[in-house]
Formats: sequence, structure tokens, C-alpha cells
Amino acid sequence: MNRDFSQRQRFSILIKNALLITGIAWRTSAILFLSVIGFSLILSFIPAIQVWVARELINTVIAALDDPDNQSKLILWIGISLGSAVLQAFATLGRQYFMRRFDDMLRLKISMDIMTHAASLDVAMFDSGMFQDTLERARNNIAFRIAHFIDDSLRLLTFILETVAIVGLLVVIQPLIVLVMIGITIPYGIFYWRQGKAAYALEYNRVEKRRWMSYYTSLLLSRESMTEVKLLNLPPHLIQQYECLMHEFINQDRKLYTRRFIGSFVFSITFAIVIFFVMLWIISQVLAGILTVGDIAVYVGAANRLRNNLEQSSQIFTGLLEDVLYAHDLAQFLETKPIMEHEGTQTLTNVQGEIELSNVTFKYPGTEKDVLQNVSLTIKPGEIIAIVGKNGAGKSTLVKLLACLYQPTKGDIRLDGVSMREIELTSIYRQIAFMLQTYNRYEATAAENIAYGDWVKLLTQTDKVRDIAKDVGITDFIDNLPQGYDTQLGRRFGDVDLSGGQWQKLALARAFAREASIVILDEPSSSLDPMAEHQLIEQFRKLRNGRTTIMISHRFSTVKGADRIVVMDEGKIVECGSHSELMSQVGLYAELYELHRQHFDMEE
Ligand code: ADP
Repeated sequence: MNRDFSQRQRFSILIKNALLITGIAWRTSAILFLSVIGFSLILSFIPAIQVWVARELINTVIAALDDPDNQSKLILWIGISLGSAVLQAFATLGRQYFMRRFDDMLRLKISMDIMTHAASLDVAMFDSGMFQDTLERARNNIAFRIAHFIDDSLRLLTFILETVAIVGLLVVIQPLIVLVMIGITIPYGIFYWRQGKAAYALEYNRVEKRRWMSYYTSLLLSRESMTEVKLLNLPPHLIQQYECLMHEFINQDRKLYTRRFIGSFVFSITFAIVIFFVMLWIISQVLAGILTVGDIAVYVGAANRLRNNLEQSSQIFTGLLEDVLYAHDLAQFLETKPIMEHEGTQTLTNVQGEIELSNVTFKYPGTEKDVLQNVSLTIKPGEIIAIVGKNGAGKSTLVKLLACLYQPTKGDIRLDGVSMREIELTSIYRQIAFMLQTYNRYEATAAENIAYGDWVKLLTQTDKVRDIAKDVGITDFIDNLPQGYDTQLGRRFGDVDLSGGQWQKLALARAFAREASIVILDEPSSSLDPMAEHQLIEQFRKLRNGRTTIMISHRFSTVKGADRIVVMDEGKIVECGSHSELMSQVGLYAELYELHRQHFDMEE
């Protein structure tokens, strides 16, 4: 993804994203959002009130020394001082309380938005590297960063209003002081704005490298990749790559920190000197009787507050610019539209399972090559079709199109005579039971691993799950698990892991848990030994119950039993017929079969 934006583009992205976040905040809970704003507003005026009260208190104490009548006025100011302290405590706690609640709601809302949107996207999206980038960034703790952005924005707003109120007080004492203050603040503000923008630009252009870093970390730390990484002794190489990128960031950051340190140091010293001279001037004015002693309190309180506000605001501002980047990622993610334009609305009932492909041509989104070319085939209801061919021939692609995970670039696929484009997607998926090469190993109980095939019905029907397990012939191994069907499988949350073959049988049970009219099996027996494979195929025949079956297999013992065998080569169907028909043709099938046989003879 191109992240080399001009300054102006970055600025408009910044504004757009700030607005986006405000929109999300509003939609999350307008009441909580407004409560936090309300308490922030109260807090922003309290310091100015307190500084003024301190002035009046001092002046009233001095007056009361000469004239006891002023004592009641003194009590009034003490009361106001106490009131403002109570109000401050209340507003601080109230803001905290509502901000925490708002923060929780916001995180929930953003996480839900991300998950719901991801679920609405099609599988084809996940092929795109650009989309993977966006997804990766959207997953990256984004809800937390956005909640942080809102908190910081409101704190910044509080500081700005507080500064305005305090400057207002100083105008009352002496407008010239304000001019002096503004004189030193403006260059500092400009300096920090530039610093913030530089940090933002740096971070903006680092995203690609950060992804590499997260990839290195995941290779090193994830269970799936760890074994091979360790055996290849890749950790030193990966750590070095990581370190190299990290050092690049550290060096860039060091320059930025140094500039920030020098700038802030110059500002603080200049501010302290200016404040000192203004203080001398105020004291001389008090001694001359032009200003009151209380004005010194106003001045000291206001000056300290101002310096503190400026420093804090500039820090918050830099953080805000970083957080806004995350909002950009979120916006980009939420704006992504599914690649597959599937607008079908028809729902299917009583599906027989007839499939008809007419002149289907397909290329993967974003690629140039037709991986399927003019494929035509009619599969009768209840037929068993085996697809064979060399690697890369297009077998899995064809099956993915049949399952409507992608749509043909040209041509059409019909299910019981209705074009799949016209059928509602969930209605198509409902009709398909599948076992893919890359089946999932759910970190769930054995029963749940089966029930997920039709979770709405089966999660609560344990008896039905047991029946399915019995049909698939896996009761023995499940009964031998420490807690039987309730054993938590997978090592992330439990202690029991299964062999590849056992996981595969569970996946098969899950496929049969679906009441679907079409069964798709992609290498169903790849992790099984020949004996287990034989059992599986026998079981499968019994269970199939007349469902249309399409399977991809490299094992000819499995393939031979199909009603028809479709032979694919370079994206085309080159042969089609029963085993004996194809053997007599002496074509690609016979050649592949002969190779397979020789291989097994050698093994024997
Ligand atoms: P087979 O299952 O016969 O081994 P596939 O259907 O997996 O073959 O692949 C057919 C062709 O499509 C191959 O050239 C492969 O590189 C390409 N291909 C597969 N998946 C994708 C994808 N997601 N994006 C782009 N090209 C792909």
C-alpha cells in the first residue's frame, strides 16, 4: 500500500479521521459521550475560578486586618474556595467514571464493527495482500487506540479552554502580560505542531516495516511455525532482521527526541526568565499601589498553570497524531467492499443436487491468468464425481467455484437449474457439506468440533452428535479421550491434541453433521494410512445417502470407485468417464494411474 502521502493529504486524512472517530463515539453512546464532554468542560473552568478565588481571599484577608467588617466577606470566599474544590473533585471523579464506561462501550462497538464487517466480506478478499495489510492493522489493538484518542482529545480540549480562561484572567490584571505570554507561546506552538507532524509522517511511512516486524515475531512465537523455524535454526536470522528494522526506527526517533528536547528546553528557560521579569514588574506595581497583593497570586497561579498546560497539550497532541493513524486503518477497513458482487435473493428448498457448469472461465481477482477455461460439466443428483489432475490443474479452484466462494469470470453455474448468482449466498452454503484440505482444528470440545457442522441445531443436541460420531466410526477414539465428548481439544486451551488423521475424521463428522445435498471433499484421506482410508471411504459410501458428491483425490483407490472421473489439465477438462472407460482411452488418466501404480509397487 502506498503510504507516501503529501503533507496536505496527510492533513486532510487527519481531519477526516478525527471526524470519523467523533461519529463512532457519538453512535456508541451519545449520553456517555456528552457526559464526558460536560465534565471536561466543568473541569476546564475550575482552575481559573480557583486562581481568582485565591486573589480575592488574599485581598480580603489584608482588608480584614484593617477592617473586621470584611470578615463575613472572608467567610464567603472561603466557602466559594471550598465549593470549587468539591466541584473539582466531583467533576474529576465523574469524568473518570463516565470515561471508563464510555471506553468499555467504545471498545465493544469497535470490535463488533470489525468482526461483523470481516464476516460480511468474501473469501476472495483474503487473497489480496493489500486487504491482508488493512486487516492486520485493523486487528492491531485498534479499539484501545481509538478509545485513547477520544480520551486524549477531550483532555486537550480541557487544556485549551482552561488556557483561554486563565488568559482571560490575566487580561483583567494587565493585558500586556497576555501579549508577552502569547509572544512566547506562539513559536512554541508552531514548534510542537511541526514536531507532531514529523512524528506523524514517520509513523505513517513505517506501517509496511511494522508489518514485517510483526511477521518475524509471529514466525518466532506461533506454534504452527515454531517447529520448522527451530529446526532450521532461523531464530538468529529472524531476530537480526527484526533488530535491524527496530534500530532504524530508534535512530529516527532519537533525532526527533533530541530536537524535541532542545526545543522544549529553550522554551522552558525562556518562559521561566520572562515570568521572572514580569513577576518583578508586578511586584513593583503592587508596591506602587496600582495592583493588589492578590494579583501576585493570580499571576503566579496563572503562569504555572499556563506552562503546565502548554507542555501537557503538546505531548497529548503528539500522541493524538499517532492515534489518528489507527483511525485511518479502521476507516479503510470498514470501507472495504466485498469483491464478489453477489446479489442473489432466491432461497432454495428441497434441493436435488444437480449441478451444471456452462463455459465457466475464471481468473482470481487481481490476476491475469485464466486458471479455468471454458469448463462445462453436468453433475446429476446423487452422482459421485472424482476430480483428478496434476498439481495446479485447477481442481481446487473448480471446487471453490462450485461452493460459491468465488464467481466465474465468464459462464454460469446452476444448481437445480437456477443460476447460483440468483440464489442467496447463505442458502447455497446451507446446501454444501465440505471437507477441505485446510480444514479447521477448533479449540473446542470433541462434541463441539462435530456440532459446528450445524451449530444452531447441534450444540444443544448431544445425542445427535454421538449418532453422527457413531456413523463416521469415531466413537472409539472419542470415548478414549480423558473426558470423552467433553474433552477440550487443541493445546491452546487444553492438554489434548489429536493426530492429523483423527482431526481429519472429526472434520468429516462435521461435514456429515450438515443436512446438505452436495458434499465436497478436497483430499479427504490425505492424512490417513491406507487402512484408515479404506474404512473412511466405506463409511462415506454408507453415510452419503444419495447426496451429490464431488471429491478431489490423488489416491486412485478412492478415485476408482467414483461414478465418473473428471480429468483436468491446465484449467480444462480433458477427459471424463468411468475408471474403465478412461483406462481404455490411454490418455492422461491412464498415464497418471500407471505412475501411481508404479510408485506403490516400488513402495511395496
Ligand atoms: P490444483 O487444486 O489442481 O492443484 P489450484 O486450483 O489450487 O490447482 O490452482 C490452479 C491455479 O490457480 C494455479 O496456477 C495456482 O497458482 C492458481 N491459484 C490458486 N489459488 C490462487 C489464489 N488465491 N490467487 C491467485 N492464484 C491462485
